[in-house]
Amino acid sequence: MQKHHTDVVKENNTLNLLNTVKRNGSMTIEGCCSTLHISRPTVLRILQELKDKHVIASSGVLTNTGGRSAQLYTLDPTWLFSIGIIVRRKHITVTAMSLNGTVAYYHCVHMEKDLDANLFIKYLFNELDSAVNFLKQGNKEIVGLALGMPGFIDGPNGVIVNFEQVQDCKNINIIQMIQERYGFPAILKNNTVLLTQIHAEQFLTEFPETLFVLIDDHSIGSALYNKGILVDGKRGDCANLGHVSLDRNGEKCFCGLRGCLTTTASIESMLHKYNQRCYGKTIDSIDAFIELLNHGDPVCREIVQLAGDDLGFVLANTAKMCDIKLIVLLFNKRWELPLLYQATIDSYNKYILPSVRGIVEFRQDSFSSEEAAVGAANFVFDEYIFKCNKYSSAQLTDIYLR
Ligand SMILES: [Zn+2]
Repeated sequence: MQKHHTDVVKENNTLNLLNTVKRNGSMTIEGCCSTLHISRPTVLRILQELKDKHVIASSGVLTNTGGRSAQLYTLDPTWLFSIGIIVRRKHITVTAMSLNGTVAYYHCVHMEKDLDANLFIKYLFNELDSAVNFLKQGNKEIVGLALGMPGFIDGPNGVIVNFEQVQDCKNINIIQMIQERYGFPAILKNNTVLLTQIHAEQFLTEFPETLFVLIDDHSIGSALYNKGILVDGKRGDCANLGHVSLDRNGEKCFCGLRGCLTTTASIESMLHKYNQRCYGKTIDSIDAFIELLNHGDPVCREIVQLAGDDLGFVLANTAKMCDIKLIVLLFNKRWELPLLYQATIDSYNKYILPSVRGIVEFRQDSFSSEEAAVGAANFVFDEYIFKCNKYSSAQLTDIYLR
């Protein structure tokens, strides 16, 4: 019992020290002692253990005004690596990242049209093989992998439930396949959730209760954080804001239901609505739609305003139920949509319950699809190294000791 308690304290101290070094970039021994309120011998022992396992490395000296210099410690960029892989409708992006956040490998492949499940898996393993071989040739240790998928997933069981753009891509235990092929641990998440990892830190320090809403061409995704921790929600993610039903008799959504938020507020659905309204002069690209919008086309403006009205309505109803202090709308870098942002806020204020009015702040930010893979690689280190909230300390020790 006593030993067990000691192990827990030791593990907590180790995790706190690692997170402090991560947050600050580099730390001295004295800095660790004063930040963590632990003794110098304990800090020295943990640092030595982490150095032996190539988790922490010396990184020069800090010269004080008194002339004495102190050794600096940082996350070791040379040994532990993670792999992030993001699948989108038409392409797969892979990145390999060192523990200190340096991207060592990046590749993106466009998948051909009319994919079936077998071909999709072939593409996926081709990309993974290349990243894994790159790291193995450099004698790097792979901590694990995070795979971000669109569509519907069962995260805890590692199953792609339905990747609806690919024929027959249903009920595939992809995590088991990855682990059998490569032998390292892997995580399956919705790609929106992994993308928000890049943005999370900047907002969560001030607002630990934040809802991210990602407005993309084809879909609307979401990720909810409570007390700074990702809310797992249904089947391992909380990403389905786009499939909140607005109209039970509405237009059919790709999920199979009718009248989902995605059918009115995704950018493709706006384009679709424009073409329904303006027969005879249809447009075939989102870029063309955005250009018309920027030139003040009244039909475009009306459609965007209606989309904002729907989005604000759904967000107000979500905020009535969940403890949310901040809502961040993430727009694709390719399309700025200030009108949608403002219309969403106006609508939110119209539909929010008077008793909870004024609690939620709104912000907007932009994302690029490339950064999602980096978010996925980040997630691996968070799960297996910095948080250790999902895997036992035995497994963590196993990673350290290998
Ligand atoms: Zn739907």
